[in-house]
Amino acid sequence: MRCNDCQNGDLLEELRHKSAVSNGRVAVVTDVPVTVCPSCGMVWYSEDVAVELDTMLSNMLAHDTVSVRPFREPATTAA
Ligand SMILES: [Zn+2]
Repeated sequence: MRCNDCQNGDLLEELRHKSAVSNGRVAVVTDVPVTVCPSCGMVWYSEDVAVELDTMLSNMLAHDTVSVRPFREPATTAA
């Protein structure tokens, strides 16, 4: 798949970390599945991943001064 941004790169699936800082607190989520362009460096999150990531980071910032967690896949089916 071609990059929409630079029309040059061949998109790759990778695992990246995402960090957030709020009121002196730090949260890091590791192993987040993303799509990256090796040419221009753009990083895309799928909608499900972005929502889950947001929820995780908010919870982590609310509870811990410093927290690091691996990403968990969004639940696609209700258990
Ligand atoms: Zn690109």
